Amino acid sequence: MSTTAETHEFQAEIAQLLNIVIHSLYTDKEIFIRELISNAADATEKLKFLQTSGTAIFEPDRELQIALATDETAHTLTITDAGIGMTRDELIENLGTIAHSGSKAFLEQIKASAAKSGGTGAAEIIGQFGVGFYSAFMVATKVTVFTRSYQPDETGWIWTSDGVSSYEIEPGNDLPRGTKIVIHLKEEDQDYATPRRVESIIKRYSNFVGFPITLNGETVNTINALWTRNKSEITDAEYEEFYKFIGHDFEAPAYRLHFSADAPLAIRALLFVPQHSREKLGMPKTESEVHLYCRKVLIQSKSKGLFPEWLRFLKGVVDSEDLPLNISRETMQDSALLQKLNKVLTTRFLKFLDEQAKADPDKYATFFREFGHFLKEGIVSDFTHRDALAKLLRYETSTSETPVALADYVARMPEDQKEIYFLSGPTREACLASPYYEGLHAKGREVVFLLDPWDEFVMEHLHEFEGKKLVPAEKAEVTLDAKEGALDADTARLLANFIKETLGDKVDEVRVSTRLVDSPAAIAESEGMTASMRRILKNLNRDEANPFKQHLEINPAHPMIAGLEKLRHADAALAAQVAAQIHDNALISAGLLEDPQAMLKRINALLEQLVTR
Ligand code: ADP
Ligand code: MG
Repeated sequence: MSTTAETHEFQAEIAQLLNIVIHSLYTDKEIFIRELISNAADATEKLKFLQTSGTAIFEPDRELQIALATDETAHTLTITDAGIGMTRDELIENLGTIAHSGSKAFLEQIKASAAKSGGTGAAEIIGQFGVGFYSAFMVATKVTVFTRSYQPDETGWIWTSDGVSSYEIEPGNDLPRGTKIVIHLKEEDQDYATPRRVESIIKRYSNFVGFPITLNGETVNTINALWTRNKSEITDAEYEEFYKFIGHDFEAPAYRLHFSADAPLAIRALLFVPQHSREKLGMPKTESEVHLYCRKVLIQSKSKGLFPEWLRFLKGVVDSEDLPLNISRETMQDSALLQKLNKVLTTRFLKFLDEQAKADPDKYATFFREFGHFLKEGIVSDFTHRDALAKLLRYETSTSETPVALADYVARMPEDQKEIYFLSGPTREACLASPYYEGLHAKGREVVFLLDPWDEFVMEHLHEFEGKKLVPAEKAEVTLDAKEGALDADTARLLANFIKETLGDKVDEVRVSTRLVDSPAAIAESEGMTASMRRILKNLNRDEANPFKQHLEINPAHPMIAGLEKLRHADAALAAQVAAQIHDNALISAGLLEDPQAMLKRINALLEQLVTR
C-alpha cells in the first residue's frame, strides 16, 4: 500500500450486516452484475440531471456509457461509468456505511428542490436500499473503486476492501470523471471474467437500462425500454419490433396493451397477445413470458404469479417502481405485493379484451378461436374473475352461426323467457337434430350450442349470467300443447309402464314427454346430469358399467309410439323388441349406447320379421 493509504474499520454491526448481504440476501450470485450496472446507470442518470440543470461539470464531453471489461488472465471484471463519481467523503459515507444509499439521499434532495421550483424530480434512479454494492463481495476477494467526482475542484480517490473488516482509501489524483470498479474474482467464481457469461447476464438483467452498455468495446444492450415511453411517441413498427424481440416470435402480435397506473400501485405494462396459441398446435404447456422489471432492471424473467396460470399466453413486460429491487426471487413469489399486482393487471387485461371485442368483433372472434379455451380454464379454475370472463365467452346458437356473447343472447330473450338454454353436441347439425332441441325450437327459444365438451363444465361453474340461470336443454321445462292424434294421458301412462317393464333395470323411469316433436323418445336428464356430462364421466371411468340412472321419455304424439301401443296388445313379444330398440335409438342419439352388438342382433331380427311378413 502507498504511504498515503488510510485504513478504516467497518463498524462491528456493519461487518455483521455485510455478512448477511454476502451470504443470504441474494439467491443468485450473478445479480451482482445487475447491481453494479444499476449503480453505474444511477450515477450516469444523476450526471445527466446535473448537466440539464446547468451545474459546472468536470470533463463535460465524456461519453455517457457503461463499459464492462473482462480479463481472464487476471481474473477480474471491471465496470466503468462516466457518472457523477464520488468525493472522499462520499466514498466513506456511501460505501463505508452499509445500508446508506447515496441515491436515496440524492432523490430526496432533488425532490425537495423540485418542490420549491415546481419541477419534477429524476424518477429514473434505481437504487434506494443501499446494499446493492456489497453484492460484489459474493464473488470477490477484493474490490477496488477508482472514482472522481464531477465537481471541477475535486480529485480522484481509490477505495479498496476485501469486504470483511475494513477498507482503505488513498488519493488517485488524475483519474477521469466517474467510477471504475475492479472485481478481483474468487477462485470458484472466475467464470464472471468470461465474456460469454457476462454478456448473457447483461442481456438478461440490464438489456433495457437507458445507457449504452459495452463489453470489451462492443455494445451489448438494446436500451429502448419501450414501456417507459409515451404511447403517443411510439410507432406500430417499434411495438412490433419490440414484441418480436422479447416474445421470440416472428409474427406480429394480435393485440397489444400499453398502460400505466399510479394507484394502487405504480405500474407500467406492455402486454402482447400472440396471433397463435402454441398449445393449440399441440406444443407443451405454454410458459408465461411476461417479465417483471423495476425501473428498467429485470427482477424476474417469465415471472410466476404475476398473472394467473390461465393467462399464460401473454407476453410482455411489467415494470413497477414499488418493487424492492434487492429482493431475492423466492421471496418475490409469494409476496402480497405480487398478488396485488396480479389482481390489478388481470382486471385491466380482461377489461381490455372486452373493449377490443366490442370495437372489432371479427378480430376478437379470431382471438377467441385461438385462446378461448384459456378463458374457459379461468372460469373453471378461478372464481376471482369469473364475471369478467363470462362476458368474454362466445358461442354459436340455434339462430346464429356466428358466435355471440351471452349478453347478446340475453338482450334478445323474449320477455316470458327467464332462463338461458344450452345444448352440447359434437356439431351444430347434431345439436339441431337433437331431441332436446325439438321442444325449445317449437317454442321459438334460442339455444346456445356448446360444441366443445368442456363447455358444459364452464356452464356448471358459471351457473348464471346477468342473473339468468343457465339451463341445459335436457332440463328445460317445455310443455307443448297436446297434438292431434296423440295418445291420451291414461293410455300413454299405461304404455310407459309397459316399456318400463320390458326394459327392466336398463331404465329407472319411463315418462310421458310434453316436449318431443319429431323424435319418438329421448333419454331424459336425471340426477341433475345431462347426457353429455354423463358421456364425459363415462369416458373417465370406463370400468363402471352404467353407474348413472337413466330416464326415458316417450313422445305420445309420435306414430311409432301410437303404433307400439296397438302392437303390445296384438304381439307383446314383438312390442318388447320394438321398445328395446326405441330405447337404444334414444341412447345413440344421446351418445350413450354402450353395446352396439346386442342392438345389431335385435335390429336384424326385426328386419327379418319385416321382410318375411
Ligand atoms: P443503492 O444503489 O441502493 O443506493 P448501493 O449499495 O448499490 O445502494 O450503493 C450505495 C451508494 O453508493 C449509492 O447510493 C451511490 O451513492 C454510491 N455509488 C455506488 N456505485 C456508484 C457509482 N458507480 N458511481 C457513483 N456513486 C456510486
Ligand atoms: Mg444500487
